[in-house]
Amino acid sequence: MFSKLLIANRGEIAVRVMRTAKRLGVSTVAVYSDADANAAHVAAADEAVRIGPAPAAESYLNIAAIIAAARQTGVQAIHPGYGFLSEKAEFAESCAAAGIVFVGPPPSAIRAMGLKDRAKALMAKAGVPVVPGYLGDDQSTEHLKKEAGRVGYPVLIKAVAGGGGKGMRKVESAGEFAVALEGAKREAKSAFGDDRVLIEKYVSRPRHIEVQVFGDSHGDAVYLFERGCSLQRRQQKVIEEAPAPGMSAAMRKQMGEAAVKAAKAVGYASAGTVEFIADASDGLKADRFWFMEMNTRLQVEHPVTEAITGTDLVEWQLRVAAGEKLPKKQSELKIHGHAIEARLYAEDPQKGFLPSIGKLVHLHLPEGEDIRVDSGVREGDEVSIFYDPMIAKIIAHDETREGAAAKLARAMRHTEVAGVQTNAAFLARALSHRAFVAGDIDTAFIERHRADLIPAARNVTSEILARAALFVAEGRARTESHDPWDAQDGFRVSGTAKDIVEFDVEGKKATVELAHAPNGLHASIHGNPVEPAHATAVRMPNGDVAVMHDGETFVLPLYDPFASAEAAGAATDRITTPMPGKIIQVLVKPGERVKPRQPLAVLEAMKMEHTLYAPADALVATVDVSPGEQVSEGAVVVRFAREKSAAA
Ligand code: ADP
Ligand code: ADP
Ligand code: MG
Repeated sequence: MFSKLLIANRGEIAVRVMRTAKRLGVSTVAVYSDADANAAHVAAADEAVRIGPAPAAESYLNIAAIIAAARQTGVQAIHPGYGFLSEKAEFAESCAAAGIVFVGPPPSAIRAMGLKDRAKALMAKAGVPVVPGYLGDDQSTEHLKKEAGRVGYPVLIKAVAGGGGKGMRKVESAGEFAVALEGAKREAKSAFGDDRVLIEKYVSRPRHIEVQVFGDSHGDAVYLFERGCSLQRRQQKVIEEAPAPGMSAAMRKQMGEAAVKAAKAVGYASAGTVEFIADASDGLKADRFWFMEMNTRLQVEHPVTEAITGTDLVEWQLRVAAGEKLPKKQSELKIHGHAIEARLYAEDPQKGFLPSIGKLVHLHLPEGEDIRVDSGVREGDEVSIFYDPMIAKIIAHDETREGAAAKLARAMRHTEVAGVQTNAAFLARALSHRAFVAGDIDTAFIERHRADLIPAARNVTSEILARAALFVAEGRARTESHDPWDAQDGFRVSGTAKDIVEFDVEGKKATVELAHAPNGLHASIHGNPVEPAHATAVRMPNGDVAVMHDGETFVLPLYDPFASAEAAGAATDRITTPMPGKIIQVLVKPGERVKPRQPLAVLEAMKMEHTLYAPADALVATVDVSPGEQVSEGAVVVRFAREKSAAA
């Protein structure tokens, strides 16, 4: 085994790799960008080396800087994690050239699977079923469109260099093809520097089922069963599980063997995942699954496989990289129970899962028996625009699928985050949804059950208001320089035994009365007693109160009549950018009437395109941005005309 390992990554995966390294007595070296100087993965390592400024292209993707850090610290091996350089053959080669072991497959295997079109062609030749489609070199719009027609709509356009669901568009009919192609190419170009695409038949009732494979340098390979990853938003996984619901032993064996065949066809060693798409319109059928791609790295969702097989895949990776044989034979691998993982993201389900950036003012991750938490952030850290907005992965293991789902839903409800929006409550709802519990999931699950999973608004209940008011009152009581007339925090003594706290709930004043009684403070609203919610409350840096309940975070500003009027006006008379980025398209002109949900502009940020929509019926007064423009957070995109209406 190696004595010293560098981890060329950040966040939860860097921390997770270090955990295993420590257990094996391997000392660890972290690398970090300027944005991560105080990050959790730096603190977790024995040594750390700065590799560049915040943008990934200048730090975590900088091969020369990472190799220099490895040389400087004298490591024998580099673990690339996932994302970043993990699937760059050139990086694996640079490691070899520097005499350092790359903890991953041989460069030739990475290359063979690196482009989706070549990988598919190779798999078809090896006798693995592939999704029907077009893989050719002719990339003209005209030809691609003709091929799409031949394949038959609906089709999926995919970037050949794609990953993370980027550069992908589903097309329903010929009329939509050209626009979709343009979008896919643009996204592919900016995310991967390669705008070539392939066309695939869009499989109906698609279920994403992937097989964990493992090879060693002695020519052996095994499969560690499958994972079901069909719960996705933006073609990206949010809930994953092992085993996949509805699999028969026969189909498991067939898929597993197909995956091993795929791995062996490219001389694979280390951890890899062979992804299949299955048509589940008639249940899972052995002749209705097709190869999609192979990810030549450790996968984000590997913990569910570890849970059900009782293995540590990072340990396997390190052993195999050190030249050892696979720790287990196929016949020694067994499935124990069921595991489900949820990815906790800083994002806003109500706003189309738009990433939410900011400081983690409060962070409490769930804990408990059979709950594993893989996280790379701590309270006080920033979720920035530079990297993936994943906060943590929460994994539950149980004897049964229902048990694991119930445990994980509970864990998500006990997750508390203030400072950014998260998908915790959304995940809790998805995990307890009857269709999920029944195993009735395909990749359209979220769309189909949108109304159940994403309520139109976060309703601030009386119980939440009462909790917030008591928090303010308690804070007041704790403050030493007690000045009951200080209206700054909205808490006022209005009589001898009754106080009030006023909050701003969407521009309207919400008043909570608090009465002193011998056994404490009692809240009431409009004269009706209210039992406060069992929830954690914190004070935000700007003075707002955040109440965290069942995975949801309610941010309540204290009522200030002047600020509220201004904010209410500002909110309705313009659209601003939610984060820094680049304006890709402007879709409206001054003088134009727009309808609610009408797209106004497209912003590219964090390597994704986000559409900005009209909030209501309105008349566009000015358009303040133009295509190609770099914008900061809060930049005005469109101003609406102030119109005389009944309400005004
Ligand atoms: P998988 O295919 O392994 O399930 P995804 O494709 O959803 O996972 O995620 C891989 C993506 O994760 C990468 O493309 C990258 O955008 C992102 N990523 C890379 N490094 C990190 C990291 N350290 N923490 C969180 N996300 C990362
Ligand atoms: P990426 O490299 O971005 O992970 P994949 O090829 O693995 O791209 O596809 C990502 C997701 O898109 C899949 O998990 C699945 O939900 C969906 N998808 C991919 N191919 C198809 C298809 N042919 N039909 C239906 N859905 C598909
Ligand atoms: Mg994939």
